[in-house]
Amino acid sequence: MTTTSSPHIPESAVEAFVRVDRVTRTAAALVRIDTRNPPGREAAAVPALLDLMRAIGCDTEVFTSSGGRPSVLARYGTGAPGRATLLINGHVDVVPVVEADWTTPPFDAVVSGGRLIGRGAADMKGGIAAAVEGLRACLDAGLAPDADIVFHLVADEETGGAHGTAELVDAGLVRADACIVPEPTGLRVAVAERGSWQAGIEVFGTAGHGGEPALGRSAVADAARITTALHLARFHDRPHPLLGSPTCNVAMVRGGVAANVIAPACTLTIDRRTLPGESADDVYASIVRTIDASCPDVDYRVLPKFFCEASELPLPHPFADFVDACRPRPRPHTRPRSRVAPGEGFIGLSLGSDARFLRNRLGIPTVVYGPGSIEQAHGADEWVGIGDLTLAARTFARAIAGFADFVAQADTGRVSPSRQTGRQL
Ligand SMILES: [Zn+2]
Repeated sequence: MTTTSSPHIPESAVEAFVRVDRVTRTAAALVRIDTRNPPGREAAAVPALLDLMRAIGCDTEVFTSSGGRPSVLARYGTGAPGRATLLINGHVDVVPVVEADWTTPPFDAVVSGGRLIGRGAADMKGGIAAAVEGLRACLDAGLAPDADIVFHLVADEETGGAHGTAELVDAGLVRADACIVPEPTGLRVAVAERGSWQAGIEVFGTAGHGGEPALGRSAVADAARITTALHLARFHDRPHPLLGSPTCNVAMVRGGVAANVIAPACTLTIDRRTLPGESADDVYASIVRTIDASCPDVDYRVLPKFFCEASELPLPHPFADFVDACRPRPRPHTRPRSRVAPGEGFIGLSLGSDARFLRNRLGIPTVVYGPGSIEQAHGADEWVGIGDLTLAARTFARAIAGFADFVAQADTGRVSPSRQTGRQL
């Protein structure tokens, strides 16, 4: 290693060492590896990730989950006790593709018109490449960070994270002073995200002849009343400043047996989006309360199926301000479909990420920040702008270069007061 720690290089100077060609090449190389989940093909990326991180000078290891799914852990730094540690948590898996909908092959990583096109370009191999480029730029500038920079390049985020970040947390392998998750946020700093609670609702009726519907009890008719009660219901009087109010979508309905029979049973499937602090029990209670208030005579049963909790980094927080101060301004076309509080730079996301494990289970100050837009993620012809890759890499370079000083100032109370002071989430 030829780099040395040099406090004399201003953090902003490292930006100039970000290389457009290199960050594009790294992102493209990752996109070309098919890591679709399901079924969960992250193992295909492990050799390339190990090569990439070792070439920078990182110590690496592979963590294999109990389900056999690998995540790559890489550390630049000594790991000595007391050193500040910045964690970059990025998922390597991507969602499936419908190839017929794509105009370029999804794993060819075509670069065209200032865009890198391919599955995972935005969500989130572009973000991983930008974070790696940030560290490379620091090292090229001759500035070895005084903090440890740890990369967790994890499996299984797209189907819930149980075989990736959650298992790393359970194994006690996640320790950091703060974390950035480079999901696509259109270069904005996201500090909150909604959770999701999904359930079936079985509605029970009494079968009878279809010619005399008043003589039985139609479960379909009762399910319609429940649907009306839940869909677009208000569950909270106090909306979250960045996430709005909880919502409920009645997504599926299945019931009845024949056109000439009063329906004896009907099942609804609902998706109730949650706010930080809401437990599964809280949500269950809110659903039952809402149904009972509107349809007290209906015979039903709620069957919870899935819960992924909401999370947030409560503002004001110096780490959110730190990352915000490191970033360039966003371009209009990368504005994500997210709620933005009037006049504020921070955003909330209507979807979940692995940030929730770090925030809720470990209390690690975590922000989500990366290139590309949620509007492009998961769709056909997913892309990330080369310009945004570069801007994100510059942000990561500054954050990596300045993190040790940031932690030292936070420890001594010298971090400047948050611009968010006085705002309660
Ligand atoms: Zn993602």
